[in-house]
Amino acid sequence: MYLTRLIYVSTLSAECDQQALDEILQISRVNNQKNHLTGLLSHNNRYFLQCIEGARAKVNEAYNRILSDPRHSRVVILQYQEITEREFGDWSMGEIPQCYLTALLNLQFSGSSEFLPYDLTGESAYRMLRQLKQKLPSE
Ligand code: FAD
Repeated sequence: MYLTRLIYVSTLSAECDQQALDEILQISRVNNQKNHLTGLLSHNNRYFLQCIEGARAKVNEAYNRILSDPRHSRVVILQYQEITEREFGDWSMGEIPQCYLTALLNLQFSGSSEFLPYDLTGESAYRMLRQLKQKLPSE
């Protein structure tokens, strides 16, 4: 089955507090390990930016579950493509701490010093996540 990478952005719902985030990461890691999915989830208190990679059918199944999750809304795909190898294979779902989303990083990949992931191109989002992973310990 073809390896695929999906990157999307979404907006946290009002109910999505720290406990909800912890629950999302917990269920994601369990499901993703089972389905051989890998990736990263970055967020601040307004937006999510997530990358999921793995077998195309499994990526699509996970995305369809994620789409209907009431803990976020306004889900927009930034990138969906076949890949030859995984970039985030060390994480079933690595969490990028908000403090990593610095003004310098945002300026490097977008026109703003704020984290505004809806304004990123798919390629910028991918490169930003690639840069962020360098600071992240493996799971
Ligand atoms: P069930 O646990 O059977 O739940 C049924 C429905 O209720 C689903 O629509 C579910 O989204 C919703 N739901 C479940 N718990 C809560 C809750 N505490 N509050 C409100 N609604 C709830 N899942 C993955 O497997 N892999 C991922 O990488 C992944 N990433 C995610 C990223 C984000 C930003 C979000 C918001 C969710 C993510 N999830 C991920 C979780 C995913 O949306 C599903 O909740 C999860 O996969 C379980 O799906 P299920 O059909 O078994 O739902």
